Amino acid sequence: MNNSKIWLSSPHMGGTEQKFIQEAFDANWVAPLGPNVNGLENDLEVYLDNQAYVGALSSGTAAIHLGLILLGVKAGDEVICQSMTFSASANPILYLGATPIFIDSEEQTWNLCPIALEKAIQDRMNNGKKPKAVIAVHLYGVPYQIESIREVADKYSIPILEDSAEALGSSYKGQKCGTFGDIGVLSFNGNKIITTSGGGAIVTKTAAQKDKAVFYATQSRDNAPHYQHSHIGYNYRMSNICAGIGRGQMEVLDKHVALRRQMHDFYVAVFSSIEGVEVFSTPNDDYFANYWLSAITIDATKTKGITAETLRLALEAENIESRPLWKPMHLQPIFEKYPYYGKKVSEELFDNGLCLPSGSNLTEEDRKRIKKVIELLFN
Ligand SMILES: *Cc1c(COP(=O)(O)O)cnc(C)c1O
Repeated sequence: MNNSKIWLSSPHMGGTEQKFIQEAFDANWVAPLGPNVNGLENDLEVYLDNQAYVGALSSGTAAIHLGLILLGVKAGDEVICQSMTFSASANPILYLGATPIFIDSEEQTWNLCPIALEKAIQDRMNNGKKPKAVIAVHLYGVPYQIESIREVADKYSIPILEDSAEALGSSYKGQKCGTFGDIGVLSFNGNKIITTSGGGAIVTKTAAQKDKAVFYATQSRDNAPHYQHSHIGYNYRMSNICAGIGRGQMEVLDKHVALRRQMHDFYVAVFSSIEGVEVFSTPNDDYFANYWLSAITIDATKTKGITAETLRLALEAENIESRPLWKPMHLQPIFEKYPYYGKKVSEELFDNGLCLPSGSNLTEEDRKRIKKVIELLFN
Protein backbone atom coordinates (compact mmCIF):
# COMPACT_ATOMS: atom_id res chain seq x y z
CA MET A 1 0.00 0.00 0.00
CA ASN A 2 1.27 3.48 -0.76
CA ASN A 3 1.47 6.10 1.95
CA SER A 4 0.50 9.23 0.01
CA LYS A 5 -1.47 11.89 1.87
CA ILE A 6 -5.21 11.38 2.21
CA TRP A 7 -6.85 14.79 2.51
CA LEU A 8 -10.00 15.76 4.37
CA SER A 9 -11.47 17.38 1.27
CA SER A 10 -9.46 18.31 -1.80
CA PRO A 11 -10.35 19.77 -5.21
CA HIS A 12 -11.79 17.24 -7.66
CA MET A 13 -11.92 18.35 -11.26
CA GLY A 14 -14.54 16.95 -13.58
CA GLY A 15 -12.61 17.30 -16.83
CA THR A 16 -14.21 20.14 -18.80
CA GLU A 17 -12.99 23.02 -16.61
CA GLN A 18 -10.03 23.81 -18.88
CA LYS A 19 -12.27 24.00 -21.93
CA PHE A 20 -14.16 26.91 -20.35
CA ILE A 21 -10.88 28.56 -19.34
CA GLN A 22 -9.55 28.14 -22.88
CA GLU A 23 -12.67 29.83 -24.25
CA ALA A 24 -12.08 32.74 -21.89
CA PHE A 25 -8.49 33.08 -23.14
CA ASP A 26 -9.52 32.75 -26.78
CA ALA A 27 -12.05 35.57 -26.40
CA ASN A 28 -9.72 37.56 -24.10
CA TRP A 29 -12.33 37.59 -21.33
CA VAL A 30 -9.60 37.60 -18.67
CA ALA A 31 -11.44 39.91 -16.28
CA PRO A 32 -13.90 39.87 -13.39
CA LEU A 33 -16.78 39.63 -15.85
CA GLY A 34 -17.57 37.69 -18.99
CA PRO A 35 -19.52 34.76 -20.43
CA ASN A 36 -18.32 32.24 -17.82
CA VAL A 37 -19.51 34.49 -14.98
CA ASN A 38 -22.95 34.81 -16.58
CA GLY A 39 -22.90 31.12 -17.50
CA LEU A 40 -22.07 29.98 -13.96
CA GLU A 41 -24.79 32.21 -12.50
CA ASN A 42 -27.26 30.71 -14.93
CA ASP A 43 -26.13 27.13 -14.15
CA LEU A 44 -26.57 27.80 -10.44
CA GLU A 45 -30.01 29.36 -10.90
CA VAL A 46 -31.12 26.29 -12.86
CA TYR A 47 -29.58 24.03 -10.20
CA LEU A 48 -31.55 25.89 -7.52
CA ASP A 49 -34.70 25.10 -9.54
CA ASN A 50 -35.05 28.74 -10.61
CA GLN A 51 -36.12 29.61 -7.08
CA ALA A 52 -33.58 32.42 -6.75
CA TYR A 53 -31.15 34.81 -8.44
CA VAL A 54 -27.41 34.19 -8.18
CA GLY A 55 -24.53 36.68 -8.23
CA ALA A 56 -21.04 35.18 -8.55
CA LEU A 57 -18.51 36.72 -6.16
CA SER A 58 -14.87 36.35 -5.17
CA SER A 59 -15.69 34.34 -2.04
CA GLY A 60 -18.41 33.11 0.25
CA THR A 61 -17.16 35.55 2.86
CA ALA A 62 -17.73 38.42 0.41
CA ALA A 63 -21.26 37.11 -0.14
CA ILE A 64 -21.96 37.17 3.60
CA HIS A 65 -20.57 40.71 3.83
CA LEU A 66 -22.74 41.97 0.95
CA GLY A 67 -25.71 39.96 2.23
CA LEU A 68 -25.57 41.73 5.57
CA ILE A 69 -25.35 45.09 3.75
CA LEU A 70 -28.42 44.19 1.67
CA LEU A 71 -30.25 43.34 4.89
CA GLY A 72 -29.45 46.82 6.18
CA VAL A 73 -26.89 45.93 8.86
CA LYS A 74 -24.96 48.99 10.01
CA ALA A 75 -22.43 49.90 12.70
CA GLY A 76 -23.87 49.42 16.17
CA ASP A 77 -26.49 46.87 15.08
CA GLU A 78 -26.68 43.40 16.55
CA VAL A 79 -26.56 40.29 14.34
CA ILE A 80 -27.33 36.80 15.58
CA CYS A 81 -25.00 34.03 14.42
CA GLN A 82 -24.71 30.30 14.96
CA SER A 83 -21.71 29.80 17.25
CA MET A 84 -20.61 26.47 15.85
CA THR A 85 -19.38 27.42 12.39
CA PHE A 86 -16.37 28.56 10.45
CA SER A 87 -15.22 32.07 11.42
CA ALA A 88 -16.16 33.36 7.96
CA SER A 89 -19.84 33.24 9.02
CA ALA A 90 -19.18 35.80 11.75
CA ASN A 91 -16.27 37.97 10.57
CA PRO A 92 -18.39 40.13 8.22
CA ILE A 93 -20.48 41.22 11.23
CA LEU A 94 -17.32 42.83 12.58
CA TYR A 95 -16.38 44.28 9.15
CA LEU A 96 -19.58 46.33 9.45
CA GLY A 97 -18.93 47.47 13.02
CA ALA A 98 -21.94 45.46 14.19
CA THR A 99 -22.05 43.17 17.24
CA PRO A 100 -22.32 39.38 16.91
CA ILE A 101 -24.67 37.55 19.28
CA PHE A 102 -23.79 33.86 19.36
CA ILE A 103 -26.25 30.98 19.70
CA ASP A 104 -25.72 27.36 20.69
CA SER A 105 -26.51 24.34 18.48
CA GLU A 106 -29.20 21.72 18.96
CA GLU A 107 -28.19 18.05 18.95
CA GLN A 108 -30.14 16.87 15.88
CA THR A 109 -28.55 18.91 13.10
CA TRP A 110 -25.75 20.58 15.11
CA ASN A 111 -27.11 23.89 13.82
CA LEU A 112 -28.89 26.91 15.31
CA CYS A 113 -31.03 25.92 18.32
CA PRO A 114 -34.48 27.49 17.85
CA ILE A 115 -35.10 27.68 21.59
CA ALA A 116 -31.85 29.49 22.36
CA LEU A 117 -32.49 31.66 19.30
CA GLU A 118 -35.85 32.86 20.57
CA LYS A 119 -34.48 33.42 24.07
CA ALA A 120 -31.70 35.54 22.63
CA ILE A 121 -34.05 37.62 20.49
CA GLN A 122 -36.32 38.31 23.46
CA ASP A 123 -33.40 39.17 25.71
CA ARG A 124 -31.82 41.51 23.16
CA MET A 125 -35.18 43.22 22.64
CA ASN A 126 -35.55 43.62 26.41
CA ASN A 127 -32.12 45.25 26.32
CA GLY A 128 -33.51 47.73 23.80
CA LYS A 129 -32.21 46.35 20.50
CA LYS A 130 -33.87 44.04 18.03
CA PRO A 131 -31.27 41.99 16.11
CA LYS A 132 -31.01 43.04 12.46
CA ALA A 133 -30.43 39.54 11.01
CA VAL A 134 -29.95 35.87 11.88
CA ILE A 135 -27.07 33.95 10.28
CA ALA A 136 -28.01 30.27 10.09
CA VAL A 137 -25.57 27.64 8.83
CA HIS A 138 -26.00 24.14 7.32
CA LEU A 139 -23.00 22.59 9.05
CA TYR A 140 -21.15 19.93 7.01
CA GLY A 141 -24.04 20.02 4.54
CA VAL A 142 -26.77 18.98 6.99
CA PRO A 143 -29.69 21.43 6.76
CA TYR A 144 -30.62 23.35 9.91
CA GLN A 145 -34.15 22.98 11.35
CA ILE A 146 -35.64 24.95 8.47
CA GLU A 147 -39.19 25.32 9.73
CA SER A 148 -38.49 26.04 13.41
CA ILE A 149 -35.86 28.66 12.59
CA ARG A 150 -38.11 30.32 10.00
CA GLU A 151 -40.98 30.38 12.50
CA VAL A 152 -38.90 32.19 15.14
CA ALA A 153 -37.43 34.63 12.62
CA ASP A 154 -40.85 35.46 11.17
CA LYS A 155 -42.41 35.86 14.62
CA TYR A 156 -40.02 38.76 15.26
CA SER A 157 -39.72 39.88 11.61
CA ILE A 158 -35.97 39.32 11.48
CA PRO A 159 -34.48 38.26 8.12
CA ILE A 160 -32.37 35.10 7.78
CA LEU A 161 -29.00 35.08 6.09
CA GLU A 162 -28.59 31.43 5.10
CA ASP A 163 -24.93 30.42 5.12
CA SER A 164 -25.12 27.54 2.65
CA ALA A 165 -21.36 27.56 2.00
CA GLU A 166 -21.12 23.87 2.93
CA ALA A 167 -24.50 22.78 1.59
CA LEU A 168 -24.69 23.17 -2.18
CA GLY A 169 -26.54 20.02 -3.26
CA SER A 170 -28.32 19.53 0.09
CA SER A 171 -32.06 19.99 0.35
CA TYR A 172 -34.98 19.92 2.77
CA LYS A 173 -38.35 18.46 1.71
CA GLY A 174 -37.10 18.64 -1.86
CA GLN A 175 -36.17 22.33 -1.76
CA LYS A 176 -32.50 23.16 -2.33
CA CYS A 177 -30.34 24.67 0.38
CA GLY A 178 -29.35 28.21 -0.52
CA THR A 179 -32.98 29.16 -1.23
CA PHE A 180 -34.34 29.18 2.35
CA GLY A 181 -32.89 32.44 3.61
CA ASP A 182 -33.95 35.98 2.77
CA ILE A 183 -30.41 35.97 1.39
CA GLY A 184 -28.35 32.85 0.69
CA VAL A 185 -24.62 32.30 0.46
CA LEU A 186 -22.58 29.69 -1.43
CA SER A 187 -18.83 29.03 -1.37
CA PHE A 188 -16.56 27.52 -4.00
CA ASN A 189 -13.37 27.50 -1.97
CA GLY A 190 -10.84 24.76 -2.75
CA ASN A 191 -12.13 22.41 -0.05
CA LYS A 192 -15.85 22.78 -0.76
CA ILE A 193 -18.15 20.39 -2.62
CA ILE A 194 -17.28 22.13 -5.88
CA THR A 195 -14.57 24.73 -6.32
CA THR A 196 -13.69 27.66 -8.56
CA SER A 197 -10.24 27.63 -6.87
CA GLY A 198 -11.69 30.37 -4.68
CA GLY A 199 -15.07 32.00 -5.06
CA GLY A 200 -18.60 32.27 -3.81
CA ALA A 201 -22.07 33.49 -4.66
CA ILE A 202 -24.91 35.47 -3.22
CA VAL A 203 -28.41 34.06 -3.68
CA THR A 204 -31.30 36.52 -3.68
CA LYS A 205 -35.07 36.48 -3.95
CA THR A 206 -35.32 39.28 -6.52
CA ALA A 207 -33.37 40.40 -9.58
CA ALA A 208 -33.14 43.89 -8.04
CA GLN A 209 -31.34 42.51 -4.96
CA LYS A 210 -28.91 40.63 -7.16
CA ASP A 211 -28.24 43.76 -9.23
CA LYS A 212 -27.59 45.71 -6.05
CA ALA A 213 -25.14 43.06 -4.79
CA VAL A 214 -23.28 43.12 -8.13
CA PHE A 215 -23.27 46.94 -8.01
CA TYR A 216 -21.60 46.91 -4.56
CA ALA A 217 -19.26 44.12 -5.70
CA THR A 218 -17.97 46.21 -8.63
CA GLN A 219 -16.99 49.35 -6.69
CA SER A 220 -20.48 50.88 -6.60
CA ARG A 221 -20.08 52.77 -9.86
CA ASP A 222 -23.03 55.08 -10.44
CA ASN A 223 -24.41 55.45 -13.96
CA ALA A 224 -22.20 58.20 -15.38
CA PRO A 225 -19.50 58.51 -18.09
CA HIS A 226 -16.87 59.30 -15.44
CA TYR A 227 -16.31 57.35 -12.20
CA GLN A 228 -19.05 58.54 -9.87
CA HIS A 229 -19.74 57.00 -6.45
CA SER A 230 -22.50 57.55 -3.93
CA HIS A 231 -22.02 54.28 -1.99
CA ILE A 232 -19.05 52.44 -0.50
CA GLY A 233 -17.78 50.03 -3.14
CA TYR A 234 -16.14 46.60 -2.93
CA ASN A 235 -14.06 44.58 -5.37
CA TYR A 236 -15.90 41.30 -4.85
CA ARG A 237 -16.85 40.07 -8.34
CA MET A 238 -15.77 36.62 -9.52
CA SER A 239 -13.14 36.40 -12.25
CA ASN A 240 -14.21 34.96 -15.60
CA ILE A 241 -11.34 32.44 -15.35
CA CYS A 242 -12.51 31.14 -11.97
CA ALA A 243 -16.08 31.04 -13.25
CA GLY A 244 -14.85 28.80 -16.09
CA ILE A 245 -13.68 26.26 -13.49
CA GLY A 246 -17.09 26.60 -11.87
CA ARG A 247 -18.93 25.84 -15.09
CA GLY A 248 -16.96 22.63 -15.52
CA GLN A 249 -17.62 21.74 -11.87
CA MET A 250 -21.36 22.27 -12.24
CA GLU A 251 -21.38 19.39 -14.73
CA VAL A 252 -20.21 16.99 -12.00
CA LEU A 253 -21.89 18.50 -8.93
CA ASP A 254 -24.58 15.85 -8.56
CA LYS A 255 -22.04 13.10 -9.15
CA HIS A 256 -19.79 14.57 -6.47
CA VAL A 257 -22.69 14.82 -4.03
CA ALA A 258 -23.39 11.12 -4.62
CA LEU A 259 -19.71 10.26 -4.03
CA ARG A 260 -19.59 12.28 -0.77
CA ARG A 261 -22.72 10.49 0.36
CA GLN A 262 -20.99 7.18 -0.42
CA MET A 263 -18.14 8.23 1.87
CA HIS A 264 -20.72 8.86 4.59
CA ASP A 265 -22.22 5.38 3.97
CA PHE A 266 -18.71 3.96 4.20
CA TYR A 267 -18.21 5.47 7.67
CA VAL A 268 -21.66 4.32 8.81
CA ALA A 269 -20.65 0.77 7.83
CA VAL A 270 -17.16 0.96 9.35
CA PHE A 271 -18.44 2.26 12.70
CA SER A 272 -21.63 0.19 12.84
CA SER A 273 -19.97 -2.44 15.03
CA ILE A 274 -17.93 0.01 17.12
CA GLU A 275 -19.66 1.03 20.32
CA GLY A 276 -19.42 4.66 21.41
CA VAL A 277 -18.94 6.18 17.96
CA GLU A 278 -21.75 7.94 16.15
CA VAL A 279 -21.66 9.08 12.55
CA PHE A 280 -23.35 12.48 12.16
CA SER A 281 -26.46 11.88 10.03
CA THR A 282 -29.68 13.62 9.10
CA PRO A 283 -32.54 13.24 11.62
CA ASN A 284 -35.07 11.93 9.07
CA ASP A 285 -35.86 11.66 5.37
CA ASP A 286 -37.08 15.25 5.06
CA TYR A 287 -33.40 16.13 5.17
CA PHE A 288 -31.05 15.39 2.27
CA ALA A 289 -27.40 16.13 3.07
CA ASN A 290 -24.55 16.45 0.62
CA TYR A 291 -22.34 15.25 3.53
CA TRP A 292 -19.67 17.72 2.49
CA LEU A 293 -17.69 16.38 5.42
CA SER A 294 -18.41 13.15 7.24
CA ALA A 295 -18.16 13.72 10.98
CA ILE A 296 -18.32 11.53 14.05
CA THR A 297 -18.64 11.97 17.79
CA ILE A 298 -16.92 9.64 20.23
CA ASP A 299 -18.15 8.84 23.72
CA ALA A 300 -14.88 7.89 25.39
CA THR A 301 -16.69 6.24 28.32
CA LYS A 302 -17.78 3.55 25.85
CA THR A 303 -14.54 3.17 23.86
CA LYS A 304 -12.13 2.25 26.68
CA GLY A 305 -10.88 5.82 26.67
CA ILE A 306 -10.27 6.25 22.95
CA THR A 307 -11.06 9.86 22.13
CA ALA A 308 -11.45 11.87 18.94
CA GLU A 309 -7.89 13.05 19.48
CA THR A 310 -6.61 9.46 19.79
CA LEU A 311 -8.18 8.67 16.44
CA ARG A 312 -6.91 11.88 14.87
CA LEU A 313 -3.34 11.04 15.88
CA ALA A 314 -3.66 7.43 14.71
CA LEU A 315 -4.84 8.65 11.29
CA GLU A 316 -2.12 11.29 11.17
CA ALA A 317 0.52 8.62 11.80
CA GLU A 318 -0.66 6.98 8.57
CA ASN A 319 -0.60 10.28 6.66
CA ILE A 320 -4.39 10.62 6.77
CA GLU A 321 -5.86 14.03 7.52
CA SER A 322 -8.77 14.46 9.93
CA ARG A 323 -9.80 17.54 11.90
CA PRO A 324 -11.74 18.51 15.02
CA LEU A 325 -15.17 20.04 14.42
CA TRP A 326 -15.42 23.83 14.10
CA LYS A 327 -14.45 25.41 17.41
CA PRO A 328 -17.48 27.48 18.47
CA MET A 329 -17.14 31.20 17.90
CA HIS A 330 -18.04 32.10 21.51
CA LEU A 331 -14.88 30.25 22.58
CA GLN A 332 -12.63 32.04 20.08
CA PRO A 333 -10.30 34.76 21.41
CA ILE A 334 -11.56 37.25 18.80
CA PHE A 335 -15.24 36.66 19.64
CA GLU A 336 -15.37 35.55 23.30
CA LYS A 337 -16.33 38.99 24.61
CA TYR A 338 -19.66 38.99 22.73
CA PRO A 339 -22.97 37.72 24.15
CA TYR A 340 -23.72 34.00 23.95
CA TYR A 341 -27.04 32.19 24.46
CA GLY A 342 -27.37 28.47 25.03
CA LYS A 343 -25.89 25.59 26.92
CA LYS A 344 -22.88 23.49 26.10
CA VAL A 345 -24.06 21.53 23.07
CA SER A 346 -21.61 23.05 20.60
CA GLU A 347 -18.82 22.93 23.17
CA GLU A 348 -19.37 19.21 23.77
CA LEU A 349 -19.54 18.53 20.05
CA PHE A 350 -16.24 20.34 19.66
CA ASP A 351 -14.69 18.32 22.50
CA ASN A 352 -15.83 14.94 21.16
CA GLY A 353 -16.14 15.31 17.41
CA LEU A 354 -13.92 14.68 14.42
CA CYS A 355 -14.23 15.30 10.66
CA LEU A 356 -12.94 12.43 8.53
CA PRO A 357 -11.62 12.32 4.96
CA SER A 358 -14.69 12.97 2.80
CA GLY A 359 -13.56 13.96 -0.67
CA SER A 360 -15.42 12.82 -3.77
CA ASN A 361 -12.00 11.84 -5.18
CA LEU A 362 -11.08 9.24 -2.54
CA THR A 363 -10.29 5.79 -3.91
CA GLU A 364 -11.04 2.26 -2.79
CA GLU A 365 -7.44 2.01 -1.65
CA ASP A 366 -7.83 5.22 0.40
CA ARG A 367 -10.90 3.73 2.09
CA LYS A 368 -8.98 0.54 2.87
CA ARG A 369 -6.20 2.54 4.54
CA ILE A 370 -8.71 4.57 6.59
CA LYS A 371 -10.64 1.46 7.62
CA LYS A 372 -7.48 -0.34 8.68
CA VAL A 373 -6.49 2.48 11.07
CA ILE A 374 -9.97 2.59 12.59
CA GLU A 375 -10.21 -1.17 13.05
CA LEU A 376 -6.71 -1.49 14.52
CA LEU A 377 -7.47 1.28 17.00
CA PHE A 378 -10.88 0.15 18.18
CA ASN A 379 -10.53 -3.65 18.11
C1 LIG B 1 -16.22 28.04 3.60
C2 LIG B 1 -17.21 28.71 4.46
C3 LIG B 1 -17.45 30.08 4.36
C4 LIG B 1 -16.60 31.02 3.57
O1 LIG B 1 -16.51 30.80 2.25
P1 LIG B 1 -15.21 31.32 1.46
O2 LIG B 1 -15.59 31.11 0.04
O3 LIG B 1 -14.06 30.46 1.89
O4 LIG B 1 -14.99 32.76 1.80
C5 LIG B 1 -18.47 30.63 5.13
N1 LIG B 1 -19.19 29.87 5.96
C6 LIG B 1 -18.97 28.56 6.11
C7 LIG B 1 -19.83 27.79 7.05
C8 LIG B 1 -17.96 27.94 5.39
O5 LIG B 1 -17.72 26.63 5.57
